Amino acid sequence: MNNHLTLVCGAGGFIGAHLVRRLKAMGRRVRGVDLKLPPFAPSAADEFVQGDLRDPDLAARVVAGSRVVYQLAADMGGAGFVFTGDHDAEIMHNSSQINLNVLEACRRAGVGQIFYSSSACVYPRHNQHDPAAPTTAEDSVCPADPDSDYGWEKLFSERLYFAYARNHGLRVRVARLHNVFGPEGSWNDGREKAPAALCRKVAAAPVGGSIEIWGDGEQTRSFLAIDECLEGVQRFMASDFCGPLNIGSAEMVSIDQLARMIMEIADKPLTIEHIPGPLGVRGRTSDNRLIRARLGWAPSRPLREGLAATYGWIATQVAAAGDAL
Ligand code: NAD
Repeated sequence: MNNHLTLVCGAGGFIGAHLVRRLKAMGRRVRGVDLKLPPFAPSAADEFVQGDLRDPDLAARVVAGSRVVYQLAADMGGAGFVFTGDHDAEIMHNSSQINLNVLEACRRAGVGQIFYSSSACVYPRHNQHDPAAPTTAEDSVCPADPDSDYGWEKLFSERLYFAYARNHGLRVRVARLHNVFGPEGSWNDGREKAPAALCRKVAAAPVGGSIEIWGDGEQTRSFLAIDECLEGVQRFMASDFCGPLNIGSAEMVSIDQLARMIMEIADKPLTIEHIPGPLGVRGRTSDNRLIRARLGWAPSRPLREGLAATYGWIATQVAAAGDAL
């Protein structure tokens, strides 16, 4: 059993809470830190520090004694949070400060390895106009033009991690995650993403009713189930490649197709109404050539499988919320 201390920053969040559970299943001793406790289930961490990583003293305190650090804490959300422009200053300020503090604390403490969760949102708009053929090869990121300030912050922080690797010898692993979804993620707090929002809408709609979709529904994306995301993260951590590396699914669907898949899972045919709303790029999927070459592996499980588990969980939440009214 590997009993060194592993720190998960953002352990109260969706991916962080699942990651803590996985690390515990691997026999690790885990300390979690977050502003908040996980909202849907108690944390599996051995220790959980509720605190603000924008505070450099707190960052130093939680990093102390850790051999491996996963840095997932960020001010983040779906299109309704990231693409309206209303949160740009807080996103850039908060997330950069977290990364500056955590990384500097890791340098001072001599942490052995640090994972950073960057995002597909770093890729430039000009390569994602065609919903049928977007480009997200890792080396296509420059000339940079992410579609949100969230993406710009991720790009800045990626460079920060690589600069610390070059100048201070830190062993970093920078992953660009693509639309991760699953049970126990945001579903109704304004930070939910398309799969959770659509599962909620389908679960809440009356039989024979309708759901609203932002835009014309032709915009494309790929979605990665949480279990496969964590599998990719562990394989990446065990590799000798520092990244940046896409961790995403290559099963691209339009948002209308996603909605229809959820209706089929729910066995509930509904009408789709397209309404104006905040949108990202026209098309995006994960280019998995590099992950296949570097790790000899890439996500391959069908989207429908992860969606079925997520729909089941969200339908239960919707029913419970309805009972509480
Ligand atoms: P999340 O919002 O559920 O988790 C982020 C956590 O960070 C939250 O629990 C939040 O409370 C915490 N946090 C924010 N500010 C903090 C602070 N000042 N101090 C301490 N904790 C703070 O998001 P997630 O979906 O779990 O994403 C985790 C990471 O992966 C993020 O960095 C995100 O940008 C990245 N990512 C996620 C996806 C995705 O589809 N979920 C895609 C690409 C990248």
